[in-house]
Order: sequence, then structure tokens, then C-alpha cells
Amino acid sequence: MSNPALSERLASLQPSPIIVVVNAARALKAAGKPVVSLSIGVPGFLPPAHVYEAAHKAVDADSGDYLPGRGSPALISAFIASLQQRGFTYTETEVVAQVGGKGALFNLLLALINSGDEVIVPAPYWASYPEMVKLVGGVPVCPTATAANHYKITPAQLQAAITPNTKAILWNNPSNPTGMLYTAAETAAIAAVLAAAPQVWVISDDIYDHLVFDKSAPRAAHVLDSQPQLRDRTILVQSVSKTYGMPGWRVGMVAAPKLVTDALLALTSQSTTHLPAVPMAAAAAALSGPQDFLHTQTARLLGQRNETLAVLQSLNLPCPTPEGAFYAFPQIAPLFGKTTPAGTKITDDLSFCTALLHEALVAVVPGSAFGDGGAIRISYAGKPEELTEALSRLKTFVQGLRSLADED
Ligand code: PLP
Repeated sequence: MSNPALSERLASLQPSPIIVVVNAARALKAAGKPVVSLSIGVPGFLPPAHVYEAAHKAVDADSGDYLPGRGSPALISAFIASLQQRGFTYTETEVVAQVGGKGALFNLLLALINSGDEVIVPAPYWASYPEMVKLVGGVPVCPTATAANHYKITPAQLQAAITPNTKAILWNNPSNPTGMLYTAAETAAIAAVLAAAPQVWVISDDIYDHLVFDKSAPRAAHVLDSQPQLRDRTILVQSVSKTYGMPGWRVGMVAAPKLVTDALLALTSQSTTHLPAVPMAAAAAALSGPQDFLHTQTARLLGQRNETLAVLQSLNLPCPTPEGAFYAFPQIAPLFGKTTPAGTKITDDLSFCTALLHEALVAVVPGSAFGDGGAIRISYAGKPEELTEALSRLKTFVQGLRSLADED
């Protein structure tokens, strides 16, 4: 018996390589192997107690009804207040809740992109960006930032990537996968280029903007800081996943011109209807509750970043210093051509990650998933003792690699 065909849309879809690695690591774990994962982007902490209390209360108060498509009134007002704290004024009709930042980005692209429209996705990029663009019929255009340029594109690179077909840019500061943070001046220079391209929607993925290590500027710089007139074509994407330790609750939010939020409401009225009540109550509590735990978490992440960088340095693996989020993106190309003690030849990022997983029981993600096959992504936010163990295994693994010359 043969199956009917899938849609053409899915023919070129790459499943998330991050989830592929995570599943491979889970399978090894299930088989009893003590795998340590530095692969998925989980922030490594649970939300404060008041978040759980709000969730319990929401269960008790369940009305048995559908809820407003935009999101619960408590979540919407908490999100508006949090935007205001960042200096951005939005009204109720300009915000909408979505199924995670990921669901928000996908629906936004669906709402904005026509077949053949170009979307600028600076590389290294979050693995899902180009796939989402392609899924909706768009064409990802990826100006590439090298490690030598601290994984940041220049205004000139952005300018060169803009064509009459450019419909949007996906902008992420600080960045997954590199942890790079565009400074206020660098962001202003990028914003100035965007200001001169009136046909371009600016989708600003701000989901890591609280997680920055510069004590003098506790939130990442934003294109709207220097170019407030971009507001008419800028879309802010937020999520409680990373900031509040709530990736499994799947609550994302969008602030945008009403034209866009109306489009998202129309779209979800025919698809997901609205977010579940309990996660919305929990997210509202996270956004409106005390924020001081964030200092503790960013201090912890900074310590773990430093521990990671120290190991990479000891191995001579070049890695620009991440200034935010919780990822490091070291270059591993110097190791290509070497062989593991088990006889596996490292030819590229994929063979490195596969050998590291099976021979050293450490899961990291190949850089090609993010547009740079000479690198790997390390997510260093997990439990401190697991990070230390994983880094020690990584060190032993890399130090155990031999080149042919070593064997002469
Ligand atoms: N954007 C970026 C850059 C991410 O790294 C992620 C998750 O890893 C997301 C969006 C989506 O996050 P969520 O759907 O959990 O809100």
C-alpha cells in the first residue's frame, strides 16, 4: 500500500535540527547512557512561586468557556505594562498573545509574506527562521557575519542585502545562536539603514532582550530606540520562555501596528483560537510580578558563560565573547581532518557532533543548522554541575583527537 503524497510545501522542509539532536540524545539516555545535553535552548531555571500560584488559581477559576482570541485581559495588560517599562507605548488593539515566540513568528510570516518575497535573515541565524520563511513561500536572504566580525552584520552588508523584493527582516538581539549583542550605536546604525527602506517590515525578535550581561544597560538596544518612526512597520515579538524559565508553557506575545495584530487575530480565529487559560494566567503573573530574580539568573548565566569560554580558550577554539542570551558559538573548523580515538574522522560540524554525542555522550548542535558549518552551538544555561561535566567531557574529547601528522 502506498500513501498519497504530502503537500509540495513540505517537500523541502528541514525538521528542526535542534530537535533532531535533542531526540538523539533522549534516545541514548533512554537506553541508559549518561548523556549530558548542551543542545536545546532552555534557560535552566523554573519560574518564581507566584507563577505557579497563578496557574493553580486559574484552574480553580475555570469558566469552561472559550476566551478572547487576543489573550486574557490579565496577560494583555501585563504585556502592555512590560512594554511601557521598556519605553514603548502600545494600546490593547496593538498587542496579541500567540503560541510561543515561535508561533508568533510563523503566523507573522504567514500574514506578511507573499510568494517570492525576500526576507532578510542575518546569519548565523536561529535555525527556524529560514525554514519558516520558505514554508510561507518567501526567499530567505542571509547576509553573513563572521566570527572575525563578532557575528554581527555591518550596516553596509544589510544595505547590500535589501532589494526591491525585500519584504521583511528578522532581527534578533541578543542572538541565538551566537549570544552576540548589538550595542546601542550598532543597533542605531542598522536602524538607520532600515529607516531608508520603507517597504520593509522589521520583525524584532526580542525574546532574549532581558538576558544581557552589561550591567549598565539591562535590556538590549532596540531599533525603535533611535528610530521611533519605524514603529509603523516594526513588530515586537516577546515570549516568557527564556526570560521567566517557562518554555513549556508556550506563551508568546506580539506588539505591532493594528493592521498586523488584526491579521494575526483573523488567522488564529481559523486555527488555534486562543492560548490555553492556565498558561496565560501564569505568564501574566510572570510579567507583572517581581523581576528581581532576573539579576540572579543573569549573574548565574554570566558565570556559566565564563566557565564555557575558559574551556574553549584552553582548547584554542575561537569563540567571540557572547554578551547575552545563553549560547556560545565556537569555531571548530580547526579540528576538521582529525580522528577520534574510536577511529571516527571529523570532516565537518555534523560528524563532530555525532562523534561527540556517541563517543563522549555530550549533545551540542551543528553550526550548519544556524548557517555556519564551521561552528557548533553550545547552550550553557543548564544545571551548573551538568555544564561542568559536559565541558570536561568536551575537553577530553577534543584533546583526544589526533591528526595523521600526530601519528607519524
Ligand atoms: N526566537 C528565537 C531566537 C529563539 O531562540 C526561540 C527559541 O529557542 C524562539 C524564538 C521561540 O521561543 P518560544 O516559542 O519558546 O517562545
